[in-house]
Amino acid sequence: MEPQSKIPQATAKRLPLYYRFLNNLHLQGKTRVSSKELSDAVKVDSATIRRDFSYFGALGRKGYGYNVEYLLEFFRKTLHQDKTTDVALIGVGNLGTAFLNYNFTKNNNTRIVKAFDANPDLVGERVGEVTVEHIDQLADQLKDIEAAILTVPGHAAQTIADTLVQAGIKGILNFTPARITVPTDVRVHHIDLSVELQSLVYFMEHYPIN
Ligand code: ATP
Repeated sequence: MEPQSKIPQATAKRLPLYYRFLNNLHLQGKTRVSSKELSDAVKVDSATIRRDFSYFGALGRKGYGYNVEYLLEFFRKTLHQDKTTDVALIGVGNLGTAFLNYNFTKNNNTRIVKAFDANPDLVGERVGEVTVEHIDQLADQLKDIEAAILTVPGHAAQTIADTLVQAGIKGILNFTPARITVPTDVRVHHIDLSVELQSLVYFMEHYPIN
C-alpha cells in the first residue's frame, strides 16, 4: 500500500479533502464510492480523481468504484492520521484565541498544546484547552512540538520565527502579513486572511461565474 513514487504536490494538497469526505462516508457505514460521487462532493473533476487515486495504488473498478476502507487506510498513513501532531500557537489576540477555542482534532489529528504571548495580562490565562505562557519561555517550552501557528502582529513575526527554528520547529503556519525567512528545511505556509478576502472580492467582480 506504499505510493508507487512521490505523490505530486497538487495531488498531495487534495488528500485532506478526500480524507474528510471518505471518513464521513465510512462513519455512515458506506463501503464503496464512485469517482462521480466523490467528484460531486469534493468538486474535483473525476478524471483528476482517477489520476490522483492511481498514485495511491487504488484502481477503481467499473460498476464498483473505490473501496472506502482501503483508501482511508492509505490516507491515514500518508497524512499521519495515526499519530497526533502537537502544535504551539504564538499570539493570543483575536485570531489566536479563535484558534485555541477551535477544536482541530474534530477533523484532523493536530492539536494546539501550548500558547505564548507577550502581554502579561494574558499570561496564566486559560484559553480553550491551554494556559498562556510568556513569550520569554518560548525557546525552552517547545520540546516534542513539531509545528507552530503565528498569530502575532507582522513586526514580531521574524524574531519569533528565528526562535522557533532554533528550537527545532520544522513547520510554521504564518497568519501574519509579514513574509518570514527560514532555512530551506523548514516549511512555511502563509495565510493572509485580508489578502484572501480582497482576492475573493476581486475575482467576484472581474471573473463572475455565469
Ligand atoms: P489579531 O491580529 O489576532 O486579531 P489583535 O488585534 O487582538 O490580534 P495584535 O496586535 O495583532 O492583536 O496581536 C496579537 C497578539 O500577539 C496579542 O495578544 C499580542 O499581545 C501578541 N503579541 C504582540 N507582540 C508579541 C510578541 N513579540 N511576542 C508574543 N506575542 C506578541
